[in-house]
Amino acid sequence: MNIVLFGPPGSGKGTQAKMLAEKYRIPHISTGDILRDNLKRKTKLGLEAKSYMDKGELVPDDVLIGITKDRLSQSDCASGFLLDGYPRTLPQADALSKILNAMGKKLDVVLNIDVPDDELIKRLAGRRMCVCGASYQIVFNPPKQERICDLCGNTLYHRDDDKEEAIMNRLDVYKHQTQPLINYYTKEGMMLLTVNGAAGISEVFDEICRLLDNLKIGDS
Ligand code: ADP
Ligand code: ADP
Ligand code: ZN
Repeated sequence: MNIVLFGPPGSGKGTQAKMLAEKYRIPHISTGDILRDNLKRKTKLGLEAKSYMDKGELVPDDVLIGITKDRLSQSDCASGFLLDGYPRTLPQADALSKILNAMGKKLDVVLNIDVPDDELIKRLAGRRMCVCGASYQIVFNPPKQERICDLCGNTLYHRDDDKEEAIMNRLDVYKHQTQPLINYYTKEGMMLLTVNGAAGISEVFDEICRLLDNLKIGDS
């Protein structure tokens, strides 16, 4: 299954993607995680991306298109993938169809996770991350021990772009640059399924699995 998980910052893409990747045994490709990993390792790409990410702005399209193209050509994507956080602009969506076309593949479904703004703001302000990629929420999904990752024991951190000013900017960027992709995919005749992401984590997961199982898509 070739899936795009679509939704505003804080809608639960990363949380759901980790569970879906395990259940359907397909790689979870998060462009945000790839960029943060580059930042941590202080690569040229990471240093270039940092100023955009800290402000909650989008990193230039050519950078993201390159990252995604490389990642999708790796062998673990042969029987499917779950894209989280890409595409975020029209040029990125166009590039994705071209990349997949050249590989003889196509997207099967775009899953749109819908959550109202006030809920997104609450979620992001209380999101805490771990270097291992796990994410928690201080109220809705707290770690067993305060500030410590359940999975690896590292201390959790608050992303710079999860502070109030950057959150508001990211929601604005989403509305202007990313949300129009819903129209784009509708016009393209893409299978676009909207999920109510305001429900609890496991309810949202069950709903997504129900939708995916109904599609009965084979390996592609
Ligand atoms: P969230 O999970 O909160 O939506 P991400 O972890 O996906 O955020 O992304 C964090 C930041 O990384 C974005 O605000 C942006 O600066 C950058 N980024 C990630 N994916 C993309 C993309 N496809 N295009 C441009 N910038 C991106
Ligand atoms: P995204 O990748 O779309 O930015 P995340 O998966 O990181 O979103 O979720 C944002 C924050 O909200 C995290 O702190 C996460 O633990 C929490 N969260 C995710 N899904 C839900 C949910 N259904 N209800 C409440 N909190 C959630
Ligand atoms: Zn961890």
